[in-house]
Amino acid sequence: MGKRTTLLILIILMLPFIGGCSNEIVQTKAAAQNGQLDLNQFDFNNEVVALDGQWEFFWNQLLDPGEFNSGATASFENFPASWTKYSTTETPISGNGYATYRLNFSNPTNEILALKIPKVRTAYKLWINGHLITTIGKLGTTRDDMVPQYLPQVVFFDAQQGQNELVMQVSNYYRPSGGLLYSITMGHPAEILNIRYHGMAYELFLFGALMMMGIYHLALFFFRRKDHTPLYFGLFCILVAIRTMLIGEAFFYVLFPYADFEIVYKIQSLTYYLGVPLILMFFKAILPEYFHTRIVRITQIIAAIYLIVVLLTPPWIYSTINPIYQIWSLLMIFYLFAMLMRIPHHRAKDSWLIIVGGLALIITCIIDIVTLSSLNTNSWPPFLKMIFQADDNSSTGQLIFAISYSFLLAKNFSESLEYKTVMSEKLTQINSQLDELVFQRTKDLTTSNEKIEQQNLELEKINQDLQKLSLKDPLTGLWNRRKYDKTIAMEWSRCLKSRKPISLLFIDVDYFKDYNDLYGHIVGDECLITIADTLKTASLRSSDMVVRYGGEEFIVLLSETDKNDAIETANKLRKIIEELAIPHEASSVKKCVTVSIGVSHLIPDPATSLKDLVAIADKALYYAKASGRNQVKYLDAK
Ligand code: GH3
Ligand code: MG
Ligand code: MG
Repeated sequence: MGKRTTLLILIILMLPFIGGCSNEIVQTKAAAQNGQLDLNQFDFNNEVVALDGQWEFFWNQLLDPGEFNSGATASFENFPASWTKYSTTETPISGNGYATYRLNFSNPTNEILALKIPKVRTAYKLWINGHLITTIGKLGTTRDDMVPQYLPQVVFFDAQQGQNELVMQVSNYYRPSGGLLYSITMGHPAEILNIRYHGMAYELFLFGALMMMGIYHLALFFFRRKDHTPLYFGLFCILVAIRTMLIGEAFFYVLFPYADFEIVYKIQSLTYYLGVPLILMFFKAILPEYFHTRIVRITQIIAAIYLIVVLLTPPWIYSTINPIYQIWSLLMIFYLFAMLMRIPHHRAKDSWLIIVGGLALIITCIIDIVTLSSLNTNSWPPFLKMIFQADDNSSTGQLIFAISYSFLLAKNFSESLEYKTVMSEKLTQINSQLDELVFQRTKDLTTSNEKIEQQNLELEKINQDLQKLSLKDPLTGLWNRRKYDKTIAMEWSRCLKSRKPISLLFIDVDYFKDYNDLYGHIVGDECLITIADTLKTASLRSSDMVVRYGGEEFIVLLSETDKNDAIETANKLRKIIEELAIPHEASSVKKCVTVSIGVSHLIPDPATSLKDLVAIADKALYYAKASGRNQVKYLDAK
């Protein structure tokens, strides 16, 4: 079921309540003639009768039931109506004054009947057949004498078979119009009470519903001050709710029968005077492009002036300027109507909700204002009189308006809630994707970090290898001259401090040029590799160092070794090389590869230099060569 259909059904459900009469009791309007009403043919079992028509009217006289024959002057006047509309006695009658009404009616049987009496302006006494039935307020012939009171009520009396007499004394100095504006209804007690209770129940329902909506919208405003629409709307609902309790069946007076007349009446007036600017402010807030700021401002100013007048003057004074406000509010209602009619041309979406509600309010307000105004006369055709007979329609209009607006609000609210839900779902999704993304990225980063670390390690290894390569001789894999220079410097200073000896063997292959010449360089290289491997494996202690010094020359550095051990080592190495028995046909010493070794031995001291070590060994080698090669020679440092 669409939302439109729901709303339509709601409105249709509301329709029977309009006017507050959903009962099936037939209400007949009587037409009394010259103060006489014949009810002999009337069937009270199904009907109630409004005692309308010509009543006897005694202006400026308060006559008790027994006093009518003592030359009182009467006229016959249409009932009900404000006596200011009666012109047959003197012209014109003012609202202030007092009068007696009388109606004689004939009844077919003796029975108990009930009267439903509306608000009477503004105090009265009622007799039937000479019995005082009720007194509301206190009658008086001056303003100070009387006490005004409103109390719509139902009273009961014994109706006689045949003639019955209804006498009513009324005085008024508190409202601009006097007497009764609404019908007195007569019928069996059950039916009359039924009408009363229906009216009350409906008005209490209106009061509760509007009050609830008012408070709800005020709460909406309280929690979201940015938007003033709910404030105006809530206040308007509350104003109409209060007004509902004061008009129609006026349940307020049942609760508080002795409430101060003027104060209550001021409140009732204010609900009307403040309602007009509030509803315009509401529409201005919700549809700012349609309502002119200046018109809203003028309405506010006029309402403010009326507010001050109401607060500072008694009702009978400010009531005289009430018609001006009625005209102004009618103008504003037409303005509102015109603006609402413009909306559908501009915006299709949802505007019908506000328009339907607004129209319900406008139409019911017009009915109420016209009913209450002095335009409403007895000369109107019955159809119009039927429409303009009650002053409490605008409450129903306001309820329809409030419901339609609440629908709009609920629709907007749930739409924005839906939007929020969708958005937060999207956000959650994005968030979870983000988590995954972050996880993936972190993983990638870790992997690449690991890779980099791995590469670093590899680089380091390569670096180390490179360094090693730069310190090693590529052909033989022995330490090269560069490494030797570094090591001998460190070793020298270490032994200098600890006063430890260093020994050095300078090894040179014999007749190697000839070897190359005879066997070729490639075989020469192989020979050098074999000698290098042999020197490496044969030496010795891990602290000893074998170096390819250049060409076919090798150095063996022996740390912390004394002279004899060094010579012994040199002899051992010479012998091992010889025993390799690498053929060397070009050698003049032996038919195999041999080496000559020069040995030097030093305890470093500040007077000597590490170069001395090589120089002496070199000298010793030269000596060994000179002595016939394939031998070890030792030379002392001087
Ligand atoms: P002596 O007994 O006096 O030491 O005679 P020798 O021929 O060994 O001395 P000399 O210094 O005249 O010659 C050294 C030769 O060593 C020259 C060169 O051909 C050879 N040689 C130097 N380095 C290499 C090398 O890396 N590979 C090869 N195959 N031969 C080399
Ligand atoms: Mg040489
Ligand atoms: Mg040589």
